[in-house]
Amino acid sequence: MKQRLLFLGPPGAGKGTQAQQLAEGQGLLHLSTGDLLRAEVAAGSALGQEAEAVMARGELVSDALVLAIVRSRLENHSGGWLLDGFPRNVAQADALAALLADLGQSIELVVLMELDDAVLVQRLLSRGRADDNEAVIRHRLEVYRQQTEPLIAYYRERGLIASVEAAGSVEEIAGRISALLG
Ligand code: ADP
Repeated sequence: MKQRLLFLGPPGAGKGTQAQQLAEGQGLLHLSTGDLLRAEVAAGSALGQEAEAVMARGELVSDALVLAIVRSRLENHSGGWLLDGFPRNVAQADALAALLADLGQSIELVVLMELDDAVLVQRLLSRGRADDNEAVIRHRLEVYRQQTEPLIAYYRERGLIASVEAAGSVEEIAGRISALLG
């Protein structure tokens, strides 16, 4: 089974839910940069203080900061992993490629979760996180279209993308994802 995975898709597509469940079931390290950043904010660390206002606006935290978090986690881990919410732009994808080359590892599959904008906004509004009000959600979607969506072509060129329809129940979607992992 493939065990070096990257989850890609718009905010609200359910990446976090699916990633957590799959990682737990398969014993993979689940690396969610959003979760890690929120933990830093909650802890009130210097890093968290730097990230807090940026996240509240729905913008991207600096590449250097996010990369440092990912590097420290991957460096000391030998098994499989699942990256969720990273990379979020081409610079981060290039940095990840360099990091993985350093570690002698590579991405085996990029799971692209696809869902209509209207459904995304509804899901995010019902979640009620601090950065989940309508204006910030619209902005996060815009940031996704501009900065993250180019990664679909980036990974397609490398032959790594597999798409999943992200509508339906959590179990249905999980089933579609496991079918891709061989
Ligand atoms: P969602 O899945 O709803 O987009 P996340 O939990 O992945 O939310 O991320 C929440 C916020 O954390 C983002 O809007 C951004 O400010 C910050 N963030 C998370 N991952 C990254 C990253 N790789 N690069 C820059 N900022 C990030």
